[in-house]
Amino acid sequence: MDDRSENLTALACVLSSLDVACVQALGGEQALRAALKDSFALAIVDVRMPGMDGYELAGLMRAQPEHRALPIIFLTAAAYDEGHVFKGYTSGAVDFLHKPVNPDILLGKVGVFLELHRQRKELGEKVAELTRIKEELERANFALLRMSMADGLTGLNNRRSLDDALEREWRRAAREGRPVSLVMADIDCFKPYNDFYGHLEGDNCLREVARMLSGAARRPADFVARFGGEEFAMVLPGTDHPGAMELAEEVLARVRMLAIPHAGTEVDGVRHVTLSLGVATACPSEDSQPQHLLDAADKALYEAKRGGRDRAFGVRCVMDGPACLCEWD
Ligand code: GH3
Ligand code: MG
Ligand code: MG
Repeated sequence: MDDRSENLTALACVLSSLDVACVQALGGEQALRAALKDSFALAIVDVRMPGMDGYELAGLMRAQPEHRALPIIFLTAAAYDEGHVFKGYTSGAVDFLHKPVNPDILLGKVGVFLELHRQRKELGEKVAELTRIKEELERANFALLRMSMADGLTGLNNRRSLDDALEREWRRAAREGRPVSLVMADIDCFKPYNDFYGHLEGDNCLREVARMLSGAARRPADFVARFGGEEFAMVLPGTDHPGAMELAEEVLARVRMLAIPHAGTEVDGVRHVTLSLGVATACPSEDSQPQHLLDAADKALYEAKRGGRDRAFGVRCVMDGPACLCEWD
């Protein structure tokens, strides 16, 4: 920008040999208006203009966020002196050209800034692309993690995350001196169910039981998982033995309410899907392992089966250091 149109025309004529679009402005106001509309690679600003001078214009242009890094070359007829140059630099100049402008020097300097602009733009695009790829990877990672923790058929937590949860809650209970309970649930006579209704209906039955168990475990810390096959597990942090037995009875009532027909069940007096439950509770010691709780719940489940199925059987684990003593209900 320059206050004299013949100077602008001369500059535009020199710059026409470059593959760039030039916007001309006669004075500061016009230049600012143009800067609001477009983004530029470089501004060439005459220092001495009536009204707003080049330094003031540079300050105002650079105050706009999108032009903070805009390179500015000042055109000056004034004799070179350090104070003058300093004022130019503090208002945002990156270079000076003295009038009369030598076309080769002008083209050389403008070429350098255009190349810098091209490189900065390219870098910005690469950063945006990398940010996009990073976000995509994060999303994929999250989905993978979710898949690795969940059971594909029922959507419940899988065996691996059950092991993690049990270990975590066992340690927490030991630290806080609180009980932790584990309920193991096994669908009764599920093999005959599959034989009678088919494997797909068997899968549907597993999904329904899974949904029912999730609904029954109401406390935020309760953790429901598919243990494998037609077996499920519920980790109940901070729940004592009577509390865990109460929940087990509620699960038995809820599965009866589901009333999933089972013509081939061997459970006396019913023609619906039923569950057997093993319930174990412990107050863990610091040097003990959660495997004790799993073993005890498994044994209790076996007792429930032996007692005729469609029932819950309980056991308390009394921890003595690393050892475990089972007290049967
Ligand atoms: P019990 O009352 O003693 O538990 O007898 P059960 O028939 O339920 O036990 P068993 O261990 O003999 O059979 C379990 C059945 O569960 C056999 C297997 O085909 C079935 N099963 C395991 N996983 C799946 C599955 O993902 N889908 C289906 N449809 N069936 C499954
Ligand atoms: Mg089983
Ligand atoms: Mg079974």
